[in-house]
Amino acid sequence: MEVIIHRGTHQIGGCVTEIKSKKGTKIAIDIGENLPSMEKKENIELNVAGLTNNEAKAFDAVIITHYHGDHIGLYNKVLAEIPIYIGEVSKEIYKIVQESLEFANVIDEKDWERVKKFKTYKIPNKIKIGDILITPIEVDHSAFNAHMLKIECDGKVLLHTGDFRLHGQRGKSVIPALEKYVGKVDCLICEGTTLSREKEPTLTEFQLQDKAEKIFKDNKYNFVYCSCTNIDRLAAVKEASKKANRIFVCDVVQAKILDYIDSIARSDYYKFKGKYEEYSYKLIDEMKSKGFVMPIRNNNFARKMLKIFPKNKFIYSNWEGYLKPEFEEYKTLQELVPKDCIFLHTSGHADIDAIKKVCETVSPEVIIPIHSEAPEVFDNMRA
Ligand SMILES: [Zn+2]
Ligand SMILES: [Zn+2]
Repeated sequence: MEVIIHRGTHQIGGCVTEIKSKKGTKIAIDIGENLPSMEKKENIELNVAGLTNNEAKAFDAVIITHYHGDHIGLYNKVLAEIPIYIGEVSKEIYKIVQESLEFANVIDEKDWERVKKFKTYKIPNKIKIGDILITPIEVDHSAFNAHMLKIECDGKVLLHTGDFRLHGQRGKSVIPALEKYVGKVDCLICEGTTLSREKEPTLTEFQLQDKAEKIFKDNKYNFVYCSCTNIDRLAAVKEASKKANRIFVCDVVQAKILDYIDSIARSDYYKFKGKYEEYSYKLIDEMKSKGFVMPIRNNNFARKMLKIFPKNKFIYSNWEGYLKPEFEEYKTLQELVPKDCIFLHTSGHADIDAIKKVCETVSPEVIIPIHSEAPEVFDNMRA
């Protein structure tokens, strides 16, 4: 088994990992775009022979771990004849976001056709590409249907963690799943996003929910800036708004995503139907009298709502880094977020304890750090 990391060993996002068997089967794991600031600094065009350029196809498949842009964003650079695989639920969420009016100016018809053609996988089913066997393991992350991938070929076992964490609502199931489906591996490719970012103890998503409840009780008109696909965060906000007795109000795109989650969710925690109101002007009087919680994003709808309710509490529930001036592409977001906002966020990524636990569980011979600006932290990680 041969492993090449095309991008991602010294940066967060933009990951592409190539795996090749002795017989010549070749797959790529993720095909991500760089974070905007990174794009500017490094200006690296992704160019992999037989994958993204017009030479004869040399890859048999691309396997996407989850729908975040830094893992899927360059799917349209992949040669048309190479199949792209993604989790079944991820594909549906990605489709809703791409086809929504909010993003209509971004996706063109050719890309849309490609997205519709994505092949899907679903646990516990395995994917067989030539002589490479892939077992997806669903994990806890700020994307809903995120996966680690166990890769087997040439008598070797590799685990690619994708993005994961253990401190979200579904974190408890990750280590038992690794014990059951993975066991000891020869090689671990592990994300290390937080190693250069987080310095404080990690807040769990349930602790965040308790904090949100208190904020919503203390403030009548609450806007929560968060990703419309961060389902765990939205579930926490929904639960907190219910306990604080505020109406949970969503815009049409958010409602569409939540309705889809509702249709596939098994746990009541992820049931959104009947627990949110889709925004319409008729709701304004009730919002004024009862108070509300509304997830918003950086768009004109949000700007309008903020004007209708000028005495609001703005809760920023996303990575604070985007508010730094060097992220020039986020200038309109930086203008949207008021100086007196409340920061309420916890990372979608593994903290150092979580990485250690994964290392202990799969006791790898070799560790390759990716998705990290501090790969050297991994030096002492081997059991
Ligand atoms: Zn990522
Ligand atoms: Zn991610």
